[in-house]
Amino acid sequence: MNTTPMKRVSIICDPAVEEHVDALLEEIGAEGHMTVPVRGIDSHDADPADTVKVQIEVTLDAARAEILLQRIQSDLIAAEPSIAAYASDIPEEDVADGHVTTAEEQARLTPDEVLQHFKDGNRRFRSGQVTRRNHPEQVRKSAVGQYPKAVVLSCLDSRVPVEDVFDQGIGDVFVARVAGNLVNEDILGSMEFACKVAGAKMILVMGHQHCGAIKGAIDDVRLGNLTTLLAKIKPAVALSNNFPGEQVSSNPLYMRHVARNNVRHAVSQIRTLSPILKEMEDKKEIKIVGAFYRLTDGTLEFIE
Ligand SMILES: [Zn+2]
Repeated sequence: MNTTPMKRVSIICDPAVEEHVDALLEEIGAEGHMTVPVRGIDSHDADPADTVKVQIEVTLDAARAEILLQRIQSDLIAAEPSIAAYASDIPEEDVADGHVTTAEEQARLTPDEVLQHFKDGNRRFRSGQVTRRNHPEQVRKSAVGQYPKAVVLSCLDSRVPVEDVFDQGIGDVFVARVAGNLVNEDILGSMEFACKVAGAKMILVMGHQHCGAIKGAIDDVRLGNLTTLLAKIKPAVALSNNFPGEQVSSNPLYMRHVARNNVRHAVSQIRTLSPILKEMEDKKEIKIVGAFYRLTDGTLEFIE
């Protein structure tokens, strides 16, 4: 998080001048500005259609805000006195993070550090202290390339929003989602791309509590293409034969047991079916981790 004092500079001008302002912002490296139409300030009695101006807002550190205001004064206001520009302070807690993981940062991170980032992010998520993000800035910065830290294989379930659960931003994480977070050829290919080609340092397979796909596999549901999908979860049901209690989907402890075995099965399949990823793990270039997400409180239990 940036801790230098930040300012918001607002510039109000005619739409015709907007491109000059844009060029100036680009020249001084003021990124991620927002432009909104506003009614003319000094002509509120006239027809609104005639009085539309634009307000351009940009957030930047105090030093560059000062430079920007000086340049607007000398380059623009001298020629166009109708332009107004001013800076206001932004309290530190309101500064949105526009940072995107860079190639250098990705290269420097170890797999253990990535896992720690995800654990810390989950803690922030659970306590409601998630990072305020400047999405427009992150979108623009990440458009030129991506250097994600990890790839997560998660279930389709709408209650497990992966980026949120780990408080990660745009460009931070590859996400593969399929009901029952199972591994197949396409998922393995995606993981090989994420790690071998795009430099991700961790594979996290995440199952979850109250998983409908796990329930379907236990109950032997048959429905269209779902039948084939659920068949891929059956090995986890078979692995759970030794469960001491009642082996039915209405038993939450059994559901949890099968979901955790399903994660273990996926992790072992990654190692067996992808020599590329297995070798990367053996060389400690990546870490392959399993986890179980509790819907009731947003916590992760890591599975050895
Ligand atoms: Zn699920």
